Amino acid sequence: MNVRVPLDIRPDLDARSGGAAPVLRERGQREVFCGLTSIVWLHRKIRDAFFLVVGSRTCAHLIQSAAGVMIFAEPRFATAILTERDLAGIADVNEELDRVVVRLLERRPEIKLLFLVGSCPSEVIKIDLARAARRQSEIYAPNVRIIAYSGSGIETTFTQGEDSCLAALVPTLPQEPPAAAPSLVVAGSLADIVEDQFARLFEAIGVPNVRFFPMRSADNPPAIGPNTRFLLAQPFLSETARALEARGAKRLSAPFPFGAEGTTAWLAAAADAFGVPRSRLDAATAEARARAETALARHRATLSGRKVFFFPDSQLEIPLARFLSREMGMVPTEVGTPYLNRQIMAADLALLPEGARVSESQDVERQLDRCRAERPDLTVCGLGLANPLEAEGLTTKWSIELLFAPTQGYEQAGDLAELFARPLTRRAALEV
Ligand code: SF4
Repeated sequence: MNVRVPLDIRPDLDARSGGAAPVLRERGQREVFCGLTSIVWLHRKIRDAFFLVVGSRTCAHLIQSAAGVMIFAEPRFATAILTERDLAGIADVNEELDRVVVRLLERRPEIKLLFLVGSCPSEVIKIDLARAARRQSEIYAPNVRIIAYSGSGIETTFTQGEDSCLAALVPTLPQEPPAAAPSLVVAGSLADIVEDQFARLFEAIGVPNVRFFPMRSADNPPAIGPNTRFLLAQPFLSETARALEARGAKRLSAPFPFGAEGTTAWLAAAADAFGVPRSRLDAATAEARARAETALARHRATLSGRKVFFFPDSQLEIPLARFLSREMGMVPTEVGTPYLNRQIMAADLALLPEGARVSESQDVERQLDRCRAERPDLTVCGLGLANPLEAEGLTTKWSIELLFAPTQGYEQAGDLAELFARPLTRRAALEV
């Protein structure tokens, strides 16, 4: 569901912001997509996990239609819908929820990790899901771990659902043994094919003990401790990064692995942290880099010199603007982001071209005015804004597609560029 909410519920990010790049901060009405959406990719990632949304029929419709699951499949998510009896206080919601969990776990014994996901109806906010998770964990441990987090559209943008999920999972990860060898954790959901490519690259580079989080199986979580270094694969994981740091892990600062340059810089951060010489990194990545360069070159003529305007939505905006400007020759005019964590974005921010206006959060009407005045060649925005802007003659790209498609790494660089080139090619075809 696309929600419009006033912004003064924004978490205080300024306290952990550093750096001097001027940022336009807005505090008006904003257009965001809710955090439940991230279940669409998370439920495919952790194969023995299940996401039980506690919410309304709207939540159920959103998740069912966004995931596009066939009704004869056994999806790894469901919605416990609050009924009239719950709302009227006739039924005890906690007892009802316990009953739903019992039925679910009896029917689906393969579930090892159950997420209770909060949503934004006020009746749900009143339920103490964390306590419910603790209560149920006592019954089902050690076979099933039960964890609560919020995917509410009031509190989150759509990618923050993953951040909340992973941040809630971090405290349950095992402690690394004393004097453990240094290890690397790559944090953030990646398509399996991308994860496998990165695992092979890290091995070829000589970075040891690499683990991915979230893990594919609940039984095989990465251990965390002071000898853990972590690289974020997704830029929207502020809370997860903080939770990992609270466990003693150290974040490696790097641009995000979009495009050939971004991927090389991201891998280099790991290579440097593990004392791998640049010559080995160069040799191990040469062929993949060359393939990426060839794939990118195919789209440069379409994208080069074109103006791109980002509305804040996915939190991928800053790294993508960096990729599009440096590797594809596009001209970002405005780079909107729902929240700006300058520490996590430092490397990408430093590579943005001069003249790119970074804006944080939103006053949607004012931002629409700026967009109309600038008439960008391509506007990257959420679903709610795309159709009206197309009707005004602007060419748009749905930001949510950038999460649903594999985009990180060398082998996906060409596909990532194509995601931006396609709307321009389509518009050109329509205008002939
Ligand atoms: S969590 Fe809120 S915004 Fe998201 S689908 Fe449910 S009611 Fe809509």
